[in-house]
Amino acid sequence: MAMTRRFGLHHVTMLSTDPVETLRFYREVVRLHLVKRTVNFDAPDIHHLYFGDAGGRPGTLLTFFPFTDAARGHVGGGAAAAISLAIPAEDMETWILHLVEQGVDTLGPTERFGESVLRFEDPFGLALDLIGREGIGAATHPVLAGATLLSQAPAATEALLVRLMGFELAGEERGLRRFVVPGTGESLDLAREGAASPVETGAGIVHHLAFRVPDEAGLGEIRAELVAWGLDPTPVLDRRYFRSVYVREPGGILFEFATDPPGFAVDEPPERLGTSLQLPPEFEPRRADIERRLAPLTPAG
Ligand code: ZN
Repeated sequence: MAMTRRFGLHHVTMLSTDPVETLRFYREVVRLHLVKRTVNFDAPDIHHLYFGDAGGRPGTLLTFFPFTDAARGHVGGGAAAAISLAIPAEDMETWILHLVEQGVDTLGPTERFGESVLRFEDPFGLALDLIGREGIGAATHPVLAGATLLSQAPAATEALLVRLMGFELAGEERGLRRFVVPGTGESLDLAREGAASPVETGAGIVHHLAFRVPDEAGLGEIRAELVAWGLDPTPVLDRRYFRSVYVREPGGILFEFATDPPGFAVDEPPERLGTSLQLPPEFEPRRADIERRLAPLTPAG
């Protein structure tokens, strides 16, 4: 069967703690836009904050669950060890100066697969890799470009990426095997060795990676293929801004498949994305209660 599928990333979702600090860091330091303020649909007493480009396009999105009392997690098998963000190669010096000005410690730049990589951490311990990339043109913000994955079963993870999801092996370097989705500019770097210990989830840990599916029909197809693969995906869930299926891949990493439509303009005008708390209709009757329980998003005082 010809593999024509192209699953680029839709979003990545992480755990943090303080929502005010999450907002400050990802807007002022990472220079992304807040494109949606909502709640965790499974635990509506905490926020779900979405950052991305100004339009909140799928593929640009980093999202956070700020669990205010979460302990710091520890990276291990069954999680992403780092998130990659691409910037124009010629902007690397500017970014180093910006991060120094912001008081952020950096490591590098080092070279990985022929590109310059600058590593830093968010305030919660999440590793972020700024990739200096040729030919991506001027950019006002970094663009989600992939992740480094630690699998508990690398061969099984690789089989799923390549045979079911259309990734192609692009190279191997220092224990990392790079998989790309041709045409998206994105890559997943999979550690060749299985991780010694499993991830301990908590602040600074990637909760899941979501991949783009064009529509709900496509979501149904991938769900059926995951079942045929012997995995146990969730039913199709309504995440308001997209429809989703989640599945724990064989190496322990939580994957999500998410539709591009309907997008973030479904409940507020495109020019006002992220400016006010949006709740799905079923939570609206409880808005006052939910707002009271949410940690404030603006600094106290
Ligand atoms: Zn998600």
